[in-house]
Amino acid sequence: MADLRIDHADWLLTVDRDRRIVRDGAVAVAGGRIVGVGRTAEVAAAHPAPRVVSARGMVVTPGLVDAHIHTTFQLSRGLADEVGSKRFLFERMYPYEAALDADDARASIALCVLELLKNGVTTFIDAGNYQPAATAAVAAAAGMRCVVARSSFDVTRSAMGRLPAAFVETTDQALARAAAAVEALDGAHDGRVRAWCQFRGLNNSTDALIVGLKALADGHGVGLQTHACFARDTMESSRAQHGTTEIERLARLGVLGPNLLLVHCGWATERERALLREHDVKVVAAPSSSLHNAYGNLREGHVPELLEAGVAVGLGSDHASSGIVDLCQEMFLIAGGYREVREDAAALAPERVVEMATVHGARCALMEQEIGALEVGRRADLVLFDAARPEWQPLYNPVANLVYSATGRSVHTVIVDGRVLVEGGRALSLDEPAIVEEARRRAPGILARTGLAAAIAPRWPVV
Ligand SMILES: [Zn+2]
Repeated sequence: MADLRIDHADWLLTVDRDRRIVRDGAVAVAGGRIVGVGRTAEVAAAHPAPRVVSARGMVVTPGLVDAHIHTTFQLSRGLADEVGSKRFLFERMYPYEAALDADDARASIALCVLELLKNGVTTFIDAGNYQPAATAAVAAAAGMRCVVARSSFDVTRSAMGRLPAAFVETTDQALARAAAAVEALDGAHDGRVRAWCQFRGLNNSTDALIVGLKALADGHGVGLQTHACFARDTMESSRAQHGTTEIERLARLGVLGPNLLLVHCGWATERERALLREHDVKVVAAPSSSLHNAYGNLREGHVPELLEAGVAVGLGSDHASSGIVDLCQEMFLIAGGYREVREDAAALAPERVVEMATVHGARCALMEQEIGALEVGRRADLVLFDAARPEWQPLYNPVANLVYSATGRSVHTVIVDGRVLVEGGRALSLDEPAIVEEARRRAPGILARTGLAAAIAPRWPVV
């Protein structure tokens, strides 16, 4: 006996080993896991269920995995426009982050979780912040699955810039606090929360911190993540400070491995890309932030070649400061971005892009066997897209429409662990009006504390 069945999906994109697309498809769920997938007539006969959700007229996909999102940056929209990487980080985002109190951070995380969930994300990897327990608690209360991490830096001034005083800590403090977060949070909330180690970027981290965090991650059987090779500035800063490029430095430190997740990597050299392949390092591409801040990851990047070589490349929306927190839109941007810069309309196929947002995201989260596909035995994380909406017409190929036409606005139903969290586009587990009101209420205070009000004011006369 199943607990729940999703019946009569017009198109069911399983993203399973054979990449089967099932017409009139169904998924049966018991104990939070998928127990049947196939044609509705067969699944319904084999798995009677007390609750049946109709997916008539819908396209059903595995839950989307946002492999890189800064949940505490959700209240930074509009604070960091038209600035390149150094100014983005050191003049805008770090001052913003340092200005957040615990309640601001919680309001930001709640708004982010709401937006992710309504746009069909069932699992996210938080990029690392100073509130990992709050991130875990808010996501878990919403019913989502996530990876959290405590952020670490131990170099106050680098070739990139100077950190706010609030971030400064010693290597030993950073390691002890990272260990405490992993021990407290990994496996929490019915196993839906995983906790990893993180250093925010290579240029503001000592070798001792990086090696220490890797040992900690290995010792606890968890992941380690950082931003790498994401702009000309990060590459040049690494050469100036360490005499080598970022991934070569990590190789020299012996920290490359299958539990390492590197975000961006657009500026990785040929030698560095070979290292990623050799060591099964996981990678995340985040096209909207690169486009917004002119990082050059699409022009310099090699996502099609990394995918071709078998590297797991997930997709991330990065942060609200680049505008978009919608993995459907990121899918279009990564596909379109590579085609445009290479003047090659076949540079990245929509099938590869959907894999990035599902099965590759699962590999990035180190949950390869658990999520990312609609297969018997995996967790029951699904999204039902309302294909009756105008932007889905006509529907010849659901993979193409999902990548080229849909946005998160066409998400109708979201299910995590067999629990319906979004229905009819409405979040059932979150109080949307209260979350939006709290964000609006807190924004002016945050803006005042950052001292950025004049820098970001509208340039046209406000009358
Ligand atoms: Zn990031």
